Amino acid sequence: MIIKENPDEIISYLEDSSNFRNGKADKVFIPESEEEIVEILNYSSRKRIPVTVSGAGTGTVAGRIPEGGFVISMEKFDKIKAIEPERKKAILQAGVIINRFLSEIEKFNLFYPPFPTERNAFIGGNISTNASGEYSFKFGPTRKYIKKIRMVLTSGKIVEIERGKSFEKDGKIFIDGMEIPLPSYRTPPVKCTAGYYSKEGMDSIDLIIGSEGTLGVITEAEVNLIDALPQRFIIVIFFPDDKKILNLVRMIKKRKDLNVFSLEYFDNNSLEFLKKDFPGIPQNSFALYIEAESGIDKMEEWGKIAEEFGAIDVWVGEDEKNYQRLIDFRHRLPENINSYFKSIKSVKVSVDVAVPEEGFQVLYNFYREIMEKENLHMVLFGHIGENHLHFNMFPEDENERLKAYRIYEECIKKGLSLGGTVSAEHGIGKLKHRWLKMMYGEKGIREMAEIKKIFDPFCIIGLNNIFPKDILFI
Ligand SMILES: Cc1cc2nc3c(=O)[nH]c(=O)nc-3n(C[C@H](O)[C@H](O)[C@H](O)COP(=O)(O)OP(=O)(O)OC[C@H]3O[C@@H](n4cnc5c(N)ncnc54)[C@H](O)[C@@H]3O)c2cc1C
Repeated sequence: MIIKENPDEIISYLEDSSNFRNGKADKVFIPESEEEIVEILNYSSRKRIPVTVSGAGTGTVAGRIPEGGFVISMEKFDKIKAIEPERKKAILQAGVIINRFLSEIEKFNLFYPPFPTERNAFIGGNISTNASGEYSFKFGPTRKYIKKIRMVLTSGKIVEIERGKSFEKDGKIFIDGMEIPLPSYRTPPVKCTAGYYSKEGMDSIDLIIGSEGTLGVITEAEVNLIDALPQRFIIVIFFPDDKKILNLVRMIKKRKDLNVFSLEYFDNNSLEFLKKDFPGIPQNSFALYIEAESGIDKMEEWGKIAEEFGAIDVWVGEDEKNYQRLIDFRHRLPENINSYFKSIKSVKVSVDVAVPEEGFQVLYNFYREIMEKENLHMVLFGHIGENHLHFNMFPEDENERLKAYRIYEECIKKGLSLGGTVSAEHGIGKLKHRWLKMMYGEKGIREMAEIKKIFDPFCIIGLNNIFPKDILFI
């Protein structure tokens, strides 16, 4: 096992993709076996030393950033232990990089449906944050595809949790002899990574998925695979305004025969961020980006749909070159936005709300009204197929920053009033405690803390993730 203590070697473990700057650690352990993890956790439990589990560090809410104590980095847990084409399953250690895993299973004509957007992440990080991906519209996030998890608890005990073996009963979840009370709140039926999962009749494994490194160290997982995907193409449809877009989205959701994998939205302000790379974007337009199964009939059908809904331009990526160009179109937006807010030395204020289908039109109108009313640079884009848009604000001075935070809170309240979540992806980490409390109330937060104490009686692992650590010691 490698142990790093030198500040220069540790520094890269004190960051992730957030702007959180309070990271500090005494030691970073890089174990190569479960026995070594058990050893670290036994020692930390005895000495009450906080421990933070580190994946690839692509998280955006500071979950892997320690605020003292030890880091356990999973980078050496990088073995793909089995790919089983007949069972359509694979067994992989927690530190396997998603990109590598996808390339390996491609050789067997298999696909891992969560297809996370950031493919430098580790599978363990993806499980801990229930990561979503490029095809979440069709397949949903990571949760559904995790069949089995191996995890080391802070007591040093190794538990194995398999989907389909144990379910919530009489308000309790059962894992390896532990009786865990189901929280009184319920996770809303939307894309959601906000706190511990809670649903009547839930599978016990679902408590672990999305638990952001607060319950134990995930060492291994068995995942479900599917056959390689059919041929797909991308169509970007531009509109002169947004009047018909939501109707079109509703129509596409009903048309299962179109076999849509991605359904994304770009408002006029977000398209401005792409003009330097794609100068042909029509002036002051709105767009839908759709990836769907290809085929001559299907392409004709999309052409008719675009015309019927008043498109002013249509871009098609069918051959490899144009397909890649349009993939780039989608990925370029967050990159250009990130470099912009760095250039103006501002911190992006980013709303990550998702709501149930029936509330989405109201939420959409709410965002658009804010954009018209408030004098602040804002963009609206993202996963419209999942009722989840990224509403980003770029305050340039203190007054604007205060305004952005006021708007942020209004959006959160609106989303919650519509039965939604404060975090559709990325998780709560150390940055969104306040909003989670708004969602589940003080009681819900306390119930989560009680669950954590069952797994981690000395309260040493993943402190300040999901909820403030103080609540554990009351
Ligand atoms: C450009 C970009 C795009 C992104 N797009 C998306 C997106 O579309 N959807 C989405 O959901 N996320 C997205 N993310 C966020 C990020 O990729 C995910 O949260 C990812 O799952 C984090 O994985 P990681 O290995 O980097 O974990 P880390 O950032 O290292 O850790 C994340 C959390 O998981 C815990 N953890 C990690 N490994 C383990 C383990 N083995 N056992 C227990 N706990 C563990 C950590 O303690 C921490 O709390 C994006 C990030 C970037 C930079």
